[in-house]
Amino acid sequence: MIDTHTHCKHSHDSKEEPSAIIERAIELGMEYVAITDHYDGELTLLPEFAFIRQIDLDKHFKELYALKEKYAEKIQVGVGIECGYMKEANDLYLHTLKPYDIDFTINSVHTVEYEDCYLKSYFDKRTKFTAYEAYLKAVRESLDCPYHYDSVGHIGYVVRKSVYPDKNLYYADHADLIDDILKTIIIKGKSLEVNSQSKGTPLDFLPTKEILIRYKELGGELLTFGSDAHLIERLCEKYSLVSEYLKSIGFKYLFKFVSHKEIAVKL
Ligand SMILES: [Zn+2]
Ligand SMILES: [Zn+2]
Repeated sequence: MIDTHTHCKHSHDSKEEPSAIIERAIELGMEYVAITDHYDGELTLLPEFAFIRQIDLDKHFKELYALKEKYAEKIQVGVGIECGYMKEANDLYLHTLKPYDIDFTINSVHTVEYEDCYLKSYFDKRTKFTAYEAYLKAVRESLDCPYHYDSVGHIGYVVRKSVYPDKNLYYADHADLIDDILKTIIIKGKSLEVNSQSKGTPLDFLPTKEILIRYKELGGELLTFGSDAHLIERLCEKYSLVSEYLKSIGFKYLFKFVSHKEIAVKL
């Protein structure tokens, strides 16, 4: 088992020790775990989010380098980061991440039209179509960012806190935009994340099954699995469910990343 998306106390919204994540991963018999704390640089540009504790990059990377070495005999630890995409934060990520040796970078959209789409207020002034379409446009834009990333995080994130009676994100409602996103991911050689954190949604995981099937039809092969665990109990959650599903629609591999290079892991 591998898990390429986890958070420790270096993120503002987790209290876990990074060593606790690694030890739990060893207990579970996992071969790879990436610790990918939030780098919410985009929020430093939005005054209303000034209260969010930002990651200490030096501390984060130094601690992970040491743990990667310490546990090398027992498990492969991926030194990771999750960048919160917003166009205006491109230069910040480009320059501040340069000095570090990173195994795996997730590029994720949490902010849409300068609003956090995890907050109810995002949905108050939008219809379901405009809320989801604006989110997907931000995902499309994020693919062209100038900093390096390996995987596109949790496509469909907007569904998590959505307030509509039918929360599901339907491929048919945004087909051209979703196709553009998937084709761009494939052309750029990026990987698509299957994220098993789907609490509050009618889905088992993100993106939806329709989107994963479409990715396959378009020739997509690179997939990562991420639990997005902020608690060690959720590490690798639904790994079997996800891998069985992926096999059933014709995928053969998941991928882990070392120094931004993908390595296939048989499903
Ligand atoms: Zn995220
Ligand atoms: Zn995350």
